[in-house]
Amino acid sequence: MRRDIPIQAIPPTEGCGDVQVRQERGQREVFCGLTGIIWLHRKMQDAFFLVVGSRTCAHLLQSAAGVMIFAEPRFGTAIIGERDLAGLVDVHDELDRIVGQLLARRPNIRTLFLVGSCPSEVIKLDLGRAAQRLHGLHAPQVRVLHYSGSGIETTFTQGEDACLQALVEQLPEREDPAPNLMVVGTLAEVVEDQLRGLIEGMGVSQVDFFPPRQSHELPAVGPNTRFVLAQPFLADTARALQARGAEIIPALFPLGVEGTSRWLHAIAQAMGVAEARCAEVIAPAAARAERSLAAAREVLDGKSIFFFPDSQLEIPLARFAQRELGMRLTEVGTPYLHRQLMAPELALLPSQTEVCEGQDVDAQLDRCLAAAPDLVVCGLGLANPLEAKGLTTKWAIELVFTPIQGFEQAADLAGLLSRPWRRRLKLAA
Ligand code: SF4
Repeated sequence: MRRDIPIQAIPPTEGCGDVQVRQERGQREVFCGLTGIIWLHRKMQDAFFLVVGSRTCAHLLQSAAGVMIFAEPRFGTAIIGERDLAGLVDVHDELDRIVGQLLARRPNIRTLFLVGSCPSEVIKLDLGRAAQRLHGLHAPQVRVLHYSGSGIETTFTQGEDACLQALVEQLPEREDPAPNLMVVGTLAEVVEDQLRGLIEGMGVSQVDFFPPRQSHELPAVGPNTRFVLAQPFLADTARALQARGAEIIPALFPLGVEGTSRWLHAIAQAMGVAEARCAEVIAPAAARAERSLAAAREVLDGKSIFFFPDSQLEIPLARFAQRELGMRLTEVGTPYLHRQLMAPELALLPSQTEVCEGQDVDAQLDRCLAAAPDLVVCGLGLANPLEAKGLTTKWAIELVFTPIQGFEQAADLAGLLSRPWRRRLKLAA
């Protein structure tokens, strides 16, 4: 489970900041960290993710990846069978054999991630030792790393955090004394290109995105590196970058017009760009995005929304829904709350907002049914039962799989929240 990791001090932003945080420990309804492989393997095109797990793990990945399995995907599962579990064969030997076959068949793989799962954890398979041994066998052509995506240790988006944390240790040391910017968190390429255009348009020329599109082209890091998170679930990665001397830029997350504007202004301030220059560069895109929200606002203004905990995106999403779409926040669940990273977001939530960290799913379902919100954002497993009770739902996973960051995507994000309501209105007509 996660610890609250001290991140270097983030100054408070304006706002009331007196939200109520309820903590719950009970049965949870969330995916495990293996799910992150779906977007990580799309992003790093020369990496391969080998889950050391069971048939359940393989099924999870194949169903989450959908049609991708018909192409030759860059992920797979080394199945731990009954003989392995019974200690009848040496799992390390089996792993060496599978990896040898894989790398011979796929010579374009430059980074191989061994991904731990519940079964590998249960049999106490030392994946660190396995990665070291396999790295010795296959370097320099292939770098072999490991991290855990097991459901015992991680939820949903924590898999990306664990993966990026493992990569941070591999980043080369930056010698250049000029300050550079690193944008941290997996973003769709279209979003990355738009954000890069705006950042470079402000005059910041040394900008890297992490993770990179090619895993062997790792950006350098050092004491002159300033980094900003593009995703809210990367506390361990942030801590690892700080340990390499980099400094975090406190900011809102780039969701919605306000989130993206403030995120870019925070970058500008940290990188010595004049406020006016930043405002001038972002104004046209911000104005366009603002106009594009009108249709969704018309549907959602005044409606209430309830978030079940899923991806750690819930708090920035709630801020966007409330401040830019006029929605009322009934409850904002999050699987884990990193108070320092989330401080700028929490400060903008209305006073008395109910934030719930962790989960006791039955109690939370009772509260949700009692509140009867207009829209519920929840995991796949809860959506059908809630729809059956007459509630309107949105699958939280769609908000992770769809590009929603930045100005150009603000309307898409709003559309994801308004679509279930439009559907309901059509059915009622
Ligand atoms: Fe299930 Fe654990 Fe495998 Fe995730 S890692 S699919 S929770 S067995």
